[in-house]
Amino acid sequence: MSGVGKLKSILRSAGERPMEWLSPTVTGCMICGKTVLPHHGSSYRERGMASYRLLRQCLCVSCFASIPWLDRIQCEVCGRGVDCGDCIRRPERHFVCNRSAVGYSSVMREWLAMYKYRGQESLAPMLAEMLVPSFLRLTEEQWLQRPQRGEARTHHGLHRLKAWMDSFWHPYAEAARRWDAITYVPVSRERAQERGFNQAQQVAGFLSDKLGIPGYDLLIRDRHAEKMSFKTRAERQRDSRTLFTGNEGQIRRLENQSHMSSRESLRILLIDDIYTTGSTAEACASAIIQLASRPVQLYILTWARS
Ligand SMILES: [Zn+2]
Ligand SMILES: [Zn+2]
Repeated sequence: MSGVGKLKSILRSAGERPMEWLSPTVTGCMICGKTVLPHHGSSYRERGMASYRLLRQCLCVSCFASIPWLDRIQCEVCGRGVDCGDCIRRPERHFVCNRSAVGYSSVMREWLAMYKYRGQESLAPMLAEMLVPSFLRLTEEQWLQRPQRGEARTHHGLHRLKAWMDSFWHPYAEAARRWDAITYVPVSRERAQERGFNQAQQVAGFLSDKLGIPGYDLLIRDRHAEKMSFKTRAERQRDSRTLFTGNEGQIRRLENQSHMSSRESLRILLIDDIYTTGSTAEACASAIIQLASRPVQLYILTWARS
């Protein structure tokens, strides 16, 4: 066993997770195959810096530069970079807000198609890694900006050393403990069979593993709907209302497992690939909330905002 393999198995046997599942490439850019040159830049955005650095090691200069990161948010609800009518049109909703990692540019559309329709499943960890900075920003903007009650930082030397060591071994622990569950938008059985996998489930699985937040299958897709993208806004909203039901067994399991948490409501992160009108997010959120016996705060994290 190699040194790294040995370290990973030691960590695993100690109940820990391996630090990274997206390993720097040795075969070239994951998108175009061009050589990836060693990179020593330090100009990354502050939060999620490790993710940007890791992505930079798996992508060539031009592919990395083509990512339209969405880090300037105009609409607090849907996370859009511009003002939007959708959220004004629909003032009532069951989820708190959506945040997306990137804008849905033609380049991002192509990357997603490589993964979803052309079966390049190896892109899953990279696409999941792209969500990490948005996850950290979302958690920070919701709960970490102001110190919470009972969480005042101690400056005792030993505590500081311990906090430093914790952040080394569990870099996401501080953010992860604000959440109770990660789940995903399910696809129909037909589509899953045709494609061989559900992209949102796969990405949610990677994130759950990396961040150390328990993953659950909280939703069931009721019927095979025609492709959403061919429908009008009204048709889509009507259809998605009847598309999902909560998975009662999993919802109870989550409620039982997080009954120790001192929080009043369950905090759930729902993963999907694209956020368009928010009707899928709304349908999923209301399906979960309907079955839950405790208050739920549901947040949406999507790869792209179209
Ligand atoms: Zn490239
Ligand atoms: Zn909006």
